[in-house]
Amino acid sequence: MVELKEYQRSEVPNWCSGCGNFSILAGVKKALSELNIEPHNIVLVSGVGCFAKLPYWIKAYGFVGLHGRSLPVAQGIKLANPKLTVIAFGGDGDGYGEGGNHFIHACRRNLNVCYFVHNNGVFGLTTGQYSPTSEKGRKSKSSPLGTLEKPLNPLTLAISAGATFVARAYAGDFKQLVELMTQAIQHTQQGKGFAVVDILQPCVSFGKNYEYYQKRVYYLGTEHDATNKIKALEKALESGEKLGCGVIYEEP
Ligand code: SF4
Repeated sequence: MVELKEYQRSEVPNWCSGCGNFSILAGVKKALSELNIEPHNIVLVSGVGCFAKLPYWIKAYGFVGLHGRSLPVAQGIKLANPKLTVIAFGGDGDGYGEGGNHFIHACRRNLNVCYFVHNNGVFGLTTGQYSPTSEKGRKSKSSPLGTLEKPLNPLTLAISAGATFVARAYAGDFKQLVELMTQAIQHTQQGKGFAVVDILQPCVSFGKNYEYYQKRVYYLGTEHDATNKIKALEKALESGEKLGCGVIYEEP
């Protein structure tokens, strides 16, 4: 097995203390280690946002590009060398806002790439403006009277656009986070297509905290049939007070 220390870099992340990004960073390394993927066979691609610095802190190949553009770069890398494990990272602002169009077409294109989205419901890097997944009515620097738009639902969008693996994880549950990341990577290794993991990520400075999520997160049990697209869409439509985590949809 590739040991965790083989992905370790000497630089220290500069995220806020308690940020959910720390467990996502640790989770990626643990999943890659458990799958025995050597650093020289991994490419991590990101865009712009607090999350986007993640490739700086894992010893593997990395590309930090333009806002919302991690998916086109990741797909190009995968097409050029299909043997590589390619993971794109996005934020809710970066990936569902600026990169929304790329997201839709990556879902229907279904190349064997993972997409891990750090969904914290705000633009954290620029100090808390509302994002595509902010709740309606959220007051922020860019919405002093409250937002007018309903939040975007990335899960229903991914399923309906054709992604073959769609899951939701919570950064506050490290064990399940690693399990879902592992399943997503395996899905791409098996040539089954695009694997999306929307990760509920506490932003302790500008967004929702752990307490908020812990009141709402629950785990999908064996009664959920992830191979049934209609049932998956019904589950994905739950929002707000109920946040079901697990594999929402996987194409049989
Ligand atoms: Fe994390 Fe939010 Fe701080 Fe950014 S602003 S590092 S998302 S806690």
